[in-house]
Amino acid sequence: MSASTVILWFRRDLRLSDHPALWAAANAGLVIPLFIRDQSVDGLGAAAKWRLGEGLRVFGEALEDRGLKLILRRGNARDVLREVIEETGATEVHWSRLYDPEAIERDTDVKSALKEAGIVAESHPGHLIFEPWTVETQTGGPYKVYSPFWRAVKDRDVDEPLPTPDLTGPESWPDSDDLADWALGADMNRGAGVLAKYCNPGERAATSRLGSFVAQKIDAYKADRDLPAEDATSRMSEYLTYGEISPRQLWAAGARAMDAGKAGAEHYLKEVVWREFAYHLLYHFPQMLTENWREGWDDFPWREDERLAEVKAWKQGRTGVPFVDAALREMYVTGYMHNRARMIVASYLTKHCMIHWRVGQAWFDDCLTDWDPASNAMGWQWVAGCGPDAAPYFRVFNPETQGEKFDPKGTYQKRWIAEGQTSPPETATDYFEAIPRSWKMEPGGNYPREPVVGLKEGREAALAAYEARPKAS
Ligand code: FAD
Repeated sequence: MSASTVILWFRRDLRLSDHPALWAAANAGLVIPLFIRDQSVDGLGAAAKWRLGEGLRVFGEALEDRGLKLILRRGNARDVLREVIEETGATEVHWSRLYDPEAIERDTDVKSALKEAGIVAESHPGHLIFEPWTVETQTGGPYKVYSPFWRAVKDRDVDEPLPTPDLTGPESWPDSDDLADWALGADMNRGAGVLAKYCNPGERAATSRLGSFVAQKIDAYKADRDLPAEDATSRMSEYLTYGEISPRQLWAAGARAMDAGKAGAEHYLKEVVWREFAYHLLYHFPQMLTENWREGWDDFPWREDERLAEVKAWKQGRTGVPFVDAALREMYVTGYMHNRARMIVASYLTKHCMIHWRVGQAWFDDCLTDWDPASNAMGWQWVAGCGPDAAPYFRVFNPETQGEKFDPKGTYQKRWIAEGQTSPPETATDYFEAIPRSWKMEPGGNYPREPVVGLKEGREAALAAYEARPKAS
């Protein structure tokens, strides 16, 4: 009897190890790896779409090393799957689950259409360690606060990550689009060449980075993770976004480090669980992507006009507040921003500048290569004060004192702000290579003499608005 043909529909799981869906496909027959460029890909921000292209390129090579081919097709997922099934005679389709509302709607629709057509259609875990519906409060229902969520999961038995299965492809392959023709970097304009210098995509790079982080940095993680000038965090976010590593692999590495007595390991696991918590919230409260999570914030006088001078200055990294500008430039150049810096720029925008968190969220969507729908929405709402388990609005980060505390020598600021330095580092000048020419900024230009919103006035105005708001929350 000839073996069945099985489609593995890859989405945000571009890896071969610890991949339950891939195991299911490999056990069922000859595997056709398929990636579909559908609306969810076209809707990605510029940097995330470019980074996806890099991930697909490297993943395609990894599959080729094993004698397989990544088939690329464009169109509505249900239609494309039908076509490929017809062309190949595939009898099964497997994929790893996603949890944002758009993906859930699409996948539910795909599953029922395939089942109706007599095809085995199965979704598998892999994007999270703890499926959102498996963590419940004692009274039933989802968690809304992080600490009890952490306590609920921290002692759970988590299975060891899976190895890569043996994979066999079909004798003849269906047609595939050419990745280069997709031009996934087209929206990046000048920035793509610069981003590429700072990007190291793929499963192999992810595994190697995780290994060196655990061997050299996890011990000091708790103390150093807040220092934006240090390379003290794992830098796994981008790999998790495209599934080039699984969260369970992070969990296993962190747990082993804990057993070995590494001081920062438990704290590391706690951070990994923040991502789980973000997805738990997104799954149960999908409106958090666009709406204030807490009641009472809809009438808050945030401004949401992209044309405002404060918005423009913030996006362009020329607010005149060096820590804020350094962070925004770091993101534009590398697609990444340090976590402490994310909190500070978000606080400055939503509090000092009184701009709606959605404006900042959208800019992060466009500029981050580790863009993640759940962590980004949760992060913005957390800082803005309207989110689940949020920092209280009246806790306004002061970028100056934050800089003194976490970047005492100004290393981070000098790394990213060229103006005023006689020989600025390449990182700082790269910014001017990446930004649109229409911004009319040059390394030798003048840095703003005054902040676009002063720290004292901004703080006072934000607190006054907070005091005056309707008190429903
Ligand atoms: P590490 O410190 O090494 O942590 C390990 C992993 O734990 C991370 O890769 C991440 O998956 C998870 N993690 C750590 N901190 C958080 C957190 N606060 N929330 C959720 N997960 C966390 N993270 C994204 O991955 N994508 C985003 O789009 C994103 N947007 C954010 C927006 C704002 C306003 C804020 C305040 C935070 C945002 N974060 C986002 C969370 C956090 O900043 C990044 O996950 C972290 O900086 C990634 O660096 P790392 O991998 O070196 O983290």
